[in-house]
Amino acid sequence: MAYLTVADGVKEFSTFQALGGVSISVERGEFFTLLGPSGCGKTTLLRAIAGFNDLTSGSITLDGQNLRSIPPHKRDIGMVFQDYAVFPHLSVFDNVAFGLKPRKVPAGEVKTRVAEALSAVHLSALAERLPAAMSGGQQQRIGLARAMVINPRLLLMDEPLSNLDAKLRIELREEIRDIQKRVDIATIYVTHDQEEALAISDRICVMSAGHIEQIGTPQQIYGNPQTLFVANFVGTLNTLPEGAGLNALLSGLGLSQPSAAHWTVRPERLALGVAGEKGGAGIAALPGRIGKYTYLGREAHVQVETDAGLVVVQIANPGTEAARQPGEAVTVLVERAALMAFDADGKRLPLEG
Ligand code: ATP
Repeated sequence: MAYLTVADGVKEFSTFQALGGVSISVERGEFFTLLGPSGCGKTTLLRAIAGFNDLTSGSITLDGQNLRSIPPHKRDIGMVFQDYAVFPHLSVFDNVAFGLKPRKVPAGEVKTRVAEALSAVHLSALAERLPAAMSGGQQQRIGLARAMVINPRLLLMDEPLSNLDAKLRIELREEIRDIQKRVDIATIYVTHDQEEALAISDRICVMSAGHIEQIGTPQQIYGNPQTLFVANFVGTLNTLPEGAGLNALLSGLGLSQPSAAHWTVRPERLALGVAGEKGGAGIAALPGRIGKYTYLGREAHVQVETDAGLVVVQIANPGTEAARQPGEAVTVLVERAALMAFDADGKRLPLEG
């Protein structure tokens, strides 16, 4: 049995159903991320595990124990919030020690445990400082140390990086990941940032409108999305419009799938060839003309108007090569295995034909 299990979790707020029967299992030491757009129910699920908001129905089990019957402060769960929730009038040390107050830990042990927690988040040197003068990143480390100092059975983090600027967000997410692996606490992390989820997680649970779309490793979620929602939400996607151009492309690749309602391909799985270039075994050639060209340094996005619709081709490492000119004739090369088909309900279909 998994370490933490939520089974058939339902949460209703009067007439609105925020969670429609979700089930997850998290293993010991696992970094598990709830990812989804605003309002999909991530925070509601996290708060139900923390005990701030009980479920309407369903079960939550931690290490074999029924959590729903235990009040929040007795669950031994550490929580880190989006706003740092540090006390401005308390030193860094006292902010972290605050978590131990209700637990009646002897003074000597408070000292060692706070020192350990501060060292884990690289704040030992600032223990006596007041947090007011500290950066957002440092304040969030205080939040993390305070959550960890109680030696929680589970660590919950609700968008802890969303108030930080982009560069710091990347730095701190690496650090959170390192610390989590070192202290080996099962962690549930909430974010709406797909790149952050890919970078930090052992497994990701993609949610939409109160239900789970897919649970898997970052590679499975990005590389093998099981629904159109997941494919669109994590990474970018070209959707090929229905029509003669798409049909010609599919028949060229030996694909015939009447049940497929959506055909898609990721921009980085397309390649740009010269005008008149032919395809090959398992590769179709789509003639087209360059539209917009966007240079982004480490990559470039090239829009191409083809018979099978407007597609974006992502070019890795464009270097200093000159921008492609609008109107230039080119060929888009489409590998059969790069195509992803979904049925009318958005469920992924295996390629057939
Ligand atoms: P965000 O990223 O914006 O926090 P989220 O995925 O965490 O989004 P939740 O906060 O879990 O979403 O909210 C899920 C849905 O439940 C939302 O539509 C929200 O409006 C609704 N909701 C949350 N709390 C309450 C409440 N106390 N009363 C009524 N509706 C609520």
